[in-house]
Amino acid sequence: MELNNVKNWLELFTTKVNENKAYLSDLDGAIGDGDHGMNMARGTTEMQAAMTEKNPETIADTFKLAGMTLVSKVGGASGPLYGSAFIGMAKAAKDSEDLVTILEAGVEGIQKRGKAEAGEKTMVDTWLPVIEALKAGDLTTETVEAIVEKTKAIQATKGRASYLGERSVGHLDPGAVSSGYLFTTMIEAEVN
Ligand code: ADP
Ligand code: MG
Ligand code: MG
Repeated sequence: MELNNVKNWLELFTTKVNENKAYLSDLDGAIGDGDHGMNMARGTTEMQAAMTEKNPETIADTFKLAGMTLVSKVGGASGPLYGSAFIGMAKAAKDSEDLVTILEAGVEGIQKRGKAEAGEKTMVDTWLPVIEALKAGDLTTETVEAIVEKTKAIQATKGRASYLGERSVGHLDPGAVSSGYLFTTMIEAEVN
């Protein structure tokens, strides 16, 4: 894993989120409160500004700065959840450059914070199968997209979408979609 690729990854993620801000908020409008695009665009833009200002010199410090910025700048549930992911990844990156190990620490951070298991229609339903695909040596953009698509069929039992009960079925989970962007941009930046 190379520092430059990691920085490029976060920049590509920021661009992707900002390009799809309205779409992410529309998805959240259907099963939540319509602010996911706004939350993620604000958080990632602040993250990029912090990267430019502080220019972290290690992978661990880069993830840590990303995590701290997302926790402090995003009001919605997604800020602390993505923040916990990056802070977990920062800790793991101190001892390891193995992508699977680092991403596992990331999803552990999300699950510690949000208590969601697989199959509850959250971002966890992107993270866990993506890590499995990566372990199997089969992580492509198409794999990520297929994983995200599967959240449509799930009934939400965590987060705001759970208030809708079975009416949450048939809609993509917005956090699963933004996490899909995180992993397609990771592939694009050749982080491995
Ligand atoms: P809010 O729901 O506070 O408005 P966002 O709209 O930014 O926050 O984020 C919603 C996304 O957060 C959901 O689509 C889901 O993926 C994710 N999410 C919500 N609660 C949890 C949880 N407990 N664990 C994991 N992810 C969650
Ligand atoms: Mg929301
Ligand atoms: Mg909200």
